[in-house]
Amino acid sequence: MTACRKAAGHYSHLLAKELIPLSILTPSRPPARKPRPTAPFVPELVYFEPDALQYPKGERILNWVREQGIPYRMTTSHNRITNLPGETESEQYKIAKRTLVVGLRKTLEFDQSKPSADYAIPIATGCMGHCHYCYLQTTLGAKPYIRVYVNTDDVIAAAKRYIEQGAPKITTFEAACTSDPVGLEHITGSLAELITFMADEPLGRLRFVTKFPHVDSLLGLKHNGHTRIRFSINADYVIRNFEPATSRFEERLEAAGKVARAGYPLGFIIAPIIWHDGWEEGYGELLSRLALAMPPGTTGKGLTFELIQHRFTKTAKSVIEKRYPKTKLEMDIEKRKKKWGRWGQNKYVYPDEQQNALREFLTERIFEHFPEAGIDYFT
Ligand code: SF4
Repeated sequence: MTACRKAAGHYSHLLAKELIPLSILTPSRPPARKPRPTAPFVPELVYFEPDALQYPKGERILNWVREQGIPYRMTTSHNRITNLPGETESEQYKIAKRTLVVGLRKTLEFDQSKPSADYAIPIATGCMGHCHYCYLQTTLGAKPYIRVYVNTDDVIAAAKRYIEQGAPKITTFEAACTSDPVGLEHITGSLAELITFMADEPLGRLRFVTKFPHVDSLLGLKHNGHTRIRFSINADYVIRNFEPATSRFEERLEAAGKVARAGYPLGFIIAPIIWHDGWEEGYGELLSRLALAMPPGTTGKGLTFELIQHRFTKTAKSVIEKRYPKTKLEMDIEKRKKKWGRWGQNKYVYPDEQQNALREFLTERIFEHFPEAGIDYFT
């Protein structure tokens, strides 16, 4: 802008005398290139369990796979994919992250999902994102491919039982414990099924979190305010360095605006909060950008924040260093505080002083910009 103004000023005498069109005199600046929107995920290889094709959803996915021209194979079990292509382990890992396995969910006992919800509701396992810090690196171990389940009716029936057992209290279900289900929704439609089911459950609530912006198919659904959609956001440094193969911050915000306007309860998860050089500016800027970008009327009462500091286990550290050898993710055990983990492994969090600084800073900034919002937890 300044450059253009200066240039126009320089030629102003000619303009007055000879009436040269301004467009000729003003050096045209190439229009800022709009970054390409994140494309919905298309796997490179798909496996089907034969039984999955007995279900309408399995059949629908098979048709989609054929239309897309994606190669597919049959497998006896979604838990035993052994012949993935790739010469090295690292190649196989990359391919696995772009491999979809369509099967049946056999275990209908739900895991607990504290502090975010009472139970994890299983509709998918695995994710196409490459977040360096993701805990799926360890929990999925040698099975990083993406499994989706076609027997959603069984999953919903199990959820109904949990709701009945929990009555008269409200039972909450987290659909993003083992995956990013929004990133798979265009293939499965499973979130839509859960949302419409939960809409008619006075004592059931659904929630999920995403780093993907593909929410359009959810906007017109009946939800009755029983589903909270949250977006994972972070300081620019964290998104740039540690979240490859997810969407840009602006896209997440745009999607957040859409779901808020569709009447869904909205939330933001800042996770993992990472102590880095300039973290105060980074997180301060994150919250001011968020406040500026959200449409009026979408960030009042009912908006929630969840704050999760970075943590890792020794196993996670060695897996991450192998899979992302150039990562800048700081995982120095000496600089961390040991905390007993629920899964029997010690995890490493920030020492109290750092934790307190992060918590206080973020809490202040959140209430400065969003005085009516609630902070569900800092962990
Ligand atoms: S988007 Fe979420 S689930 Fe997917 S890799 Fe990143 S942190 Fe893991």
